[in-house]
Amino acid sequence: MKHSVDSLPQVIAVLPAAGIGSRMQADCPKQYLTIGHQTILEYAIHALLRHPRITQAIVAISPEDHHFQSLPIAQDPRVTVTVGGNQRAHSVMAGLKLAGNAEWVLVHDAARPCLHADDLERLLAITDHSVVGGILAAPVRDTMKRSEACQSAISHTVERQDLWHALTPQLFPLALLKCCLQRALDEGATVTDEASALEHCGYHPLLVAGRSDNIKVTRPEDLKLAAFYLTQLNH
Ligand code: C5P
Repeated sequence: MKHSVDSLPQVIAVLPAAGIGSRMQADCPKQYLTIGHQTILEYAIHALLRHPRITQAIVAISPEDHHFQSLPIAQDPRVTVTVGGNQRAHSVMAGLKLAGNAEWVLVHDAARPCLHADDLERLLAITDHSVVGGILAAPVRDTMKRSEACQSAISHTVERQDLWHALTPQLFPLALLKCCLQRALDEGATVTDEASALEHCGYHPLLVAGRSDNIKVTRPEDLKLAAFYLTQLNH
């Protein structure tokens, strides 16, 4: 059954943007690199706020951040800023604390500018039938190798069937994500994305197949690729 947007629960977005992006070898954190006239962070926020169900974007920035307030998007009344933490999970937690009593929260990397509207739509559709939430993910295509610990020699090949790249956005009921993230942090679990906090607590979030052009800008060569993908999105 098709619902009108008004009858569906609203969603608050949290964008962890407090990283320094050391692998990028740039003068500023990677989310502030520009493609055309906009920063990567602005593309990421706009891609979310374009959807009528996403009513607010909370951006967690570093305490030393001198860039964000100078961006036009900082003046958007739907955008709220907070101070992030030492790890991504702490930055997300800071954002969640400002999400009030929203039912659902969507977390998206500030460094992923190429989110396609169709992917976002398919992810948001899970609120209709899931009580746990889910993530955008792309099936692994290459043959996967595990190395010997901290060495460049192959230890063995990892079966790639049923292996996925975890992407963002990741979408969860706010109360569940808060509770799982807090427990995972308290128990010292490795939390590199939000789904891993839920997994730590025994939940099995859904995998929603997403496009592989939803890249995270991580290395210098990713910037040109992101610029190209953005030109394709706008057609
Ligand atoms: O470093 P990585 O690429 O995994 O970062 C993913 C996202 O998490 C980026 O948007 C980055 O700004 C954010 N992050 C954060 N707080 C940290 C570390 C990373 O908000 N302490």
